[in-house]
Amino acid sequence: RAFNFNAGPSALPLEVLQKAQAELVDFQGTGMSVMELSHRSATFEAVHNEAIARLRKLFEIPENYEVLFLQGGASLQFTMIPMNFLQEGKKASYIQTGAWSEKAFKEAKFFGTPVEAASTKENNYKNIPAIENINIDPEAAYVHLTSNNTIFGTQWKTFPTTGDIPLIADMSSDILSKKVDVSNFSMIYAGAQKNLGPSGVTVVIARKDLLEKANTNIPTMLQYATHVKNNSLYNTPPTFGIYMLGEVLKWVEEQGGLDVIEKRNEEKAAYIYDVIDNSNGFYYGHATEDSRSLMNITFRVADEELEKKFLAEAKEAGFVGLNGHRSVGGCRASAYNSVPVEACKALADFMVKFQQDNQ
Ligand code: PLP
Repeated sequence: RAFNFNAGPSALPLEVLQKAQAELVDFQGTGMSVMELSHRSATFEAVHNEAIARLRKLFEIPENYEVLFLQGGASLQFTMIPMNFLQEGKKASYIQTGAWSEKAFKEAKFFGTPVEAASTKENNYKNIPAIENINIDPEAAYVHLTSNNTIFGTQWKTFPTTGDIPLIADMSSDILSKKVDVSNFSMIYAGAQKNLGPSGVTVVIARKDLLEKANTNIPTMLQYATHVKNNSLYNTPPTFGIYMLGEVLKWVEEQGGLDVIEKRNEEKAAYIYDVIDNSNGFYYGHATEDSRSLMNITFRVADEELEKKFLAEAKEAGFVGLNGHRSVGGCRASAYNSVPVEACKALADFMVKFQQDNQ
């Protein structure tokens, strides 16, 4: 197996892939693949409902929240959120911490007036704003934030509380990497392709009282109400993706749940950040220390020529996906849940050796 540090789609647990392989042509004695089952069959419905139940249990989702499996990626949520919850002439507060927040903001302009509650753009998104620097518009229909900034490598450590104003979070790149108090949010959404499974499924966790306020005067597929009413089975769902999501959730349970996963993620990221911090400036991180992401570790090799050499040699050595996002450059190691400790340790060792050989 490659040392896969891709930012998304990213590594999946080997055990899950092996199970899927074993079940591929005959799922539970049906004589067919899970992909060939009718989405209306009892067998598939059990897969679907079990995945929802597992997510509810693992992420400790309270009863007054719906769990939806949608399509269109987190990017369609950028649109559906304002389409459902923001009316023309009304404002919504957006906390700008990176490229994905900007994209969410842009979509809101089609429906109402997004306003910036804070932005760290001037600092090239190196940090998460301090809670006291966030100015939420008291009339905002909701507040939107991105919990982990995949491209810049920053992550919220504590979230703001927004009182009666619904807080909505894009958790695409750190959902299920640690425990989160779901009740602090009115809605959480995430494309599955990083910590949850393959691409194609988008998880939406939303409080029922927020969903009740959603606009119903919009196209059917774009109404949350449609998917709530139909248990996310209004149209043909991405059945294989939902099956895989269920298997990944089972894997997380088998690892010991989110406490174990969080500790492991801390340990993994520490291997790499420690090398950066002890390199005497040979490597430097993009994110400020207090905002560092455990999921996406963004760094540079101080010497630009050496950085090219580093990336080429790392690729040669079997490390995949270390090039930074095209908009930022440099290097990025994405260490999502499924990336094993050994991969991070191997990368840390490689970085130390590269510095020794090239200093
Ligand atoms: N939000 C974040 C934080 C992301 O990292 C990504 C993709 O990498 C997206 C949104 C977009 O997700 P999708 O490709 O599922 O639309």
